[in-house]
Amino acid sequence: EGIVSAYASDAEHDAEVSVRPKRLADFIAQHRVRDQLDLLLRGAMGRGTPPDHILLSGPPGLGKTTLANIVAAELGVGIRVTSGPAIERSGDLAAIVTSLVEGDVLFIDEIHRIAKPAEELLYSAMEDFRVDVVVGKGPGATAIPLDVEPFTLVGATTRSGLLTGPMRDRFGFVAHLDFYSADDLRTLLHRSARILGVPITEEGAVEIAGRSRGTPRIANRLLRRVRDFAEVRADGVVNLETARAALQVYDVDGLGLDRLDRAVLTALVESFRGGPVGLSTLAVAVGEQPDTVEEVCEPFLVRAGLLARTPRGRVATEAAWRHLGISPPNGTFG
Ligand code: ATP
Repeated sequence: EGIVSAYASDAEHDAEVSVRPKRLADFIAQHRVRDQLDLLLRGAMGRGTPPDHILLSGPPGLGKTTLANIVAAELGVGIRVTSGPAIERSGDLAAIVTSLVEGDVLFIDEIHRIAKPAEELLYSAMEDFRVDVVVGKGPGATAIPLDVEPFTLVGATTRSGLLTGPMRDRFGFVAHLDFYSADDLRTLLHRSARILGVPITEEGAVEIAGRSRGTPRIANRLLRRVRDFAEVRADGVVNLETARAALQVYDVDGLGLDRLDRAVLTALVESFRGGPVGLSTLAVAVGEQPDTVEEVCEPFLVRAGLLARTPRGRVATEAAWRHLGISPPNGTFG
């Protein structure tokens, strides 16, 4: 995946941790979610009980993992981290939940991808703080009930609609994270630069912010690449000049679109004359799962005003044609 992918590469986690906000007060933007979480956590702490289970939804790289860690830090409790795809059997989940210490946060990333039997076990752990572990097979099988210490589940998913109804119902609080404005990302970049000890000008921050696809992970990554450029080819300062030159070296699109974003727009314009075209047809054309196109790619394209979802299918906007430098057929836009 390219430099503007919203997903973290394996090598990237260490670089991210150093700039990851540790407390709610340091978490930039998303004011409504922050406010709601603040109330939820303070209320629970005042009563001396773990807060309700928390579901965080939103595209990758917007801070779900960061928020899960912040929840644990604010509560002053431990955190266990796992992911839906890692939990294949109900025994995997039973082992995790029965090892939790009272009050712990259990963070399950991509919770919509948890295997069905494990999901059912999770229900009783969430609701009754109890799980039945089945031992043996066939007629001799017995269910052994095990207690689970009260804990708070923090689940993350790209869209809450991907969860089954019973799962969604067991979360007392659902927060939706949205893309960040360029202005918020500018603030975030100044903060990260300060932590990394990188000199940055206002114009430099604005330039990087505008090409970060509304995503903190991408903003931080582009900052690190511009820093390299500034240190190797210039005087070490991240400014308009070094930002532009570095982003050109890395072939970052003026709007920060990633490979999939561009593939979707290009297919829409070149193969389907701008649409309308159905989601699954479009997904096949770019060789991706419809879910990925819908959950990861489209939200940003819609927000950037490049793609519209209509009842008859996906349509490229005039701005999309312009961005790709292709002229629309005469009469397409009035
Ligand atoms: P994924 O779903 O891919 O795991 P995520 O939504 O969990 O992504 P995080 O790993 O939490 O994303 O965030 C990516 C990086 O962006 C973090 O390392 C963190 O430094 C930064 N970040 C995210 N949100 C904020 C914020 N509100 N303020 C400051 N930094 C942030």
